[in-house]
Amino acid sequence: KKAVMEREFSRMNGRQKEAVFHTDGPLLILAGAGSGKTTVLVNRIANLIRWGGAYHSTALPPELSQEDLDLLQAAAEEGRALPDAIRERLAVEPCRPWQILAITFTNKAAGELKNRLETMLGPAGGDIWASTFHSTCARMLRRDGERLGYTSHFTIYDTDDSRRLIKDCQKALNIDDKVLSYKSILAAISRAKDNLISPKEYEQQAGKDNRLILLAQAYKLYQQRLKEADAMDFDDLICNAVRLFEECPDVLEYYQDKFRYVMVDEYQDTNHAQYMLVKLLAQKRQNLCVVGDDDQSIYKFRGATIENIMSFEKSFPRAAVIRLEQNYRSTQNILDAANAVISNNTERKGKTLWTENPAGAKIAVHTGYNEQDESDYIAKKVLEEVAAGRKYSDFAVLYRTNILEKMFVKSGVPYRIIGGLRFYERKEIRDMIAYLSVINNPTDEMRLRRIINQPKRSIGDKTIAQASEIAATLGESLFDVICHADSYEPLKRTAPKLLQFAELMQSLIEASNDPDVSLNDLYHLILDRTNYIEALKAAENDDAQDRIDNINELSSNIIKYEEDNGDEASLSGFLEEVSLMTDIDNFDETADTVVMMTMHSAKGLEFPVVFLPGFEEGIFPGLQAIYNPNEIEEERRLAYVAITRAKEELYILNAESRMIFGSTSRNKPSRFIAEIPEELIERSRTREWKKPKPGMVLPTSSYEARVVSANAARHFGPSSLEQGHAPSEPLRVGDRVSHRTFGEGCILTATPMGNDTLLEIAFEQVGTKKLMANFARLTKL
Ligand code: ATP
Ligand code: MG
Repeated sequence: KKAVMEREFSRMNGRQKEAVFHTDGPLLILAGAGSGKTTVLVNRIANLIRWGGAYHSTALPPELSQEDLDLLQAAAEEGRALPDAIRERLAVEPCRPWQILAITFTNKAAGELKNRLETMLGPAGGDIWASTFHSTCARMLRRDGERLGYTSHFTIYDTDDSRRLIKDCQKALNIDDKVLSYKSILAAISRAKDNLISPKEYEQQAGKDNRLILLAQAYKLYQQRLKEADAMDFDDLICNAVRLFEECPDVLEYYQDKFRYVMVDEYQDTNHAQYMLVKLLAQKRQNLCVVGDDDQSIYKFRGATIENIMSFEKSFPRAAVIRLEQNYRSTQNILDAANAVISNNTERKGKTLWTENPAGAKIAVHTGYNEQDESDYIAKKVLEEVAAGRKYSDFAVLYRTNILEKMFVKSGVPYRIIGGLRFYERKEIRDMIAYLSVINNPTDEMRLRRIINQPKRSIGDKTIAQASEIAATLGESLFDVICHADSYEPLKRTAPKLLQFAELMQSLIEASNDPDVSLNDLYHLILDRTNYIEALKAAENDDAQDRIDNINELSSNIIKYEEDNGDEASLSGFLEEVSLMTDIDNFDETADTVVMMTMHSAKGLEFPVVFLPGFEEGIFPGLQAIYNPNEIEEERRLAYVAITRAKEELYILNAESRMIFGSTSRNKPSRFIAEIPEELIERSRTREWKKPKPGMVLPTSSYEARVVSANAARHFGPSSLEQGHAPSEPLRVGDRVSHRTFGEGCILTATPMGNDTLLEIAFEQVGTKKLMANFARLTKL
């Protein structure tokens, strides 16, 4: 019998098989990168569905006839389900696809999981709930969100929506951004939600602390506004699902009964709310399998807690633990490098990874002359290897902060940036999505405000503010007020315009309810009736054609969505898909290009050749981490994730000098390079370098500033972005100064430039930097 089943899973090693066949009861699979965790998960699901977990189950009748075995064998070889004749005699109930819930982190990972399941199981694979935490929760809340006071059409606010809303709240509460920045408010709210702390509890915990009291007020108002708009932000999806389970035991029970098996990939990155969700779902049957690697926990800054993995055995006392130690992904050299780096962390469960793969090439560590040289080096290597037979898509460039976007521009290497300005972040696309959202949910005030004068309809901010005020006073929605604009005195003058807009929207809402109007028809109705494209053309901006192309591209996305979802396609379904889309979704594997993305986005993926630029102190590890030992370990885990993405070749790069944040830095090589044993490394360096001809460097400085500031915000927090004022005393060469982020240093040179002075400062911790005096916020010591 065993032989039959094992043929099915013949590629698996002993430990992996053990994990595949351990189906009942809690299971923790704890294993290093590339050891087949995700592979095991997929095979485990296949086992459950095809064989009902029967193979492992003690319920398997001890004696199956030869005939049965032949049937089993044939089914296994052809990848069919457990034959009915045998199934009937087995005491175990076969598992149905919809009884399995498999959760992973990124949409990309979820998509891959679905693909692999469908390849393995045919159409039945499509019925498995394989999705991200966010989609899973959204789906549950669509069904039962009414129990919490939302409609089934609720809107999902993405990061940008949340940002706008919190800024509104800030204004309403008179909170000066300098006193409490909207970023820190959002971060605090997000942290509270991760920990399932409600606005009320937050208020109680605030005590007499002024800052906390202010945060509590902002949280409360933000939540109230969301509720009024029938909207949830990303964090709400998770914590509202948990609330739903806690407040409505019948709903919880429904899902506890429905899902016989719950599985979570990348478990090390779950936060408290996600942990509770999984725990509640699996409480009754205890069939929970989590898969993770404590060394790859890289979302602590978002509230993920390693505790969840560390204490799994405590939360589920009957838990079996399986460790996988063989790595199938990388060469020996790459694996040795990864092991050596991560061994410097103290906070870990500790494990050793080995591989039967050959040693492979040494790790190439290249020191570039500057950042341009660093990127030229990468482009050159790619072109060389492509000439020798590799595909462009074999290469990935993974970075900590996106300091390198401009690099391939002139190299002739086809590349895509995952997580650059996303399609769905473009203005025209946001406008279109806003139209669709308001049609779906007219109480969505924020999106209504976005489109009410877009394209221009001579409805000014003042009118909108007045209408909002009326709505707030009467406790009605803004849309309702606009629909009856002529009955309110303050709106009399603009009423005709408002009514015209209301009629337009009403006619679109009507169309959306007509079963004969497809989503794509509706989309074209919006375009026709708003004259959006004509307005774009009339504006005569340089990028009008690009924008029109994007608008047409959205139409193809809608058509594709309709094709994929058939009868189930709906406006709210489409909007949900859009709002849950993360950067990684634009990653089209079929196109042959080099990909560039952040190390965070690369989690779970693998590539034959990986380049890791920017391995410099101050960049990776980042400045914040250098001054905060707790964060160094998280950066090191990120380095481990990055290194272990590589299958065959790994290039690590640093530059002797680099333009970053508008100034030139000379950073020391990253400590992570020093942590790799020298015998695994082959070093090279560019000593002579010719400046590219003028006109070759394409990106403009404003572009650069935008990229840098967006990323600085994301990765270094607000502090490095805030601009200071000129120091009161003039600074001279030789002065000792202190900088908020870089620490203490000594001024080497001071060159007057316009109204400002360019200072070259040798900082003790981070090396020499060039800064403009007016913006550097220096304190003379
Ligand atoms: P990560 O920690 O990066 O998420 P992982 O542990 O999930 O990695 P997988 O992505 O499942 O690892 O597997 C890594 C690679 O090893 C994949 O290419 C997979 O096909 C291969 N692999 C896994 N198990 C085996 C096996 N038993 N025999 C051969 N190849 C395997
Ligand atoms: Mg994986």
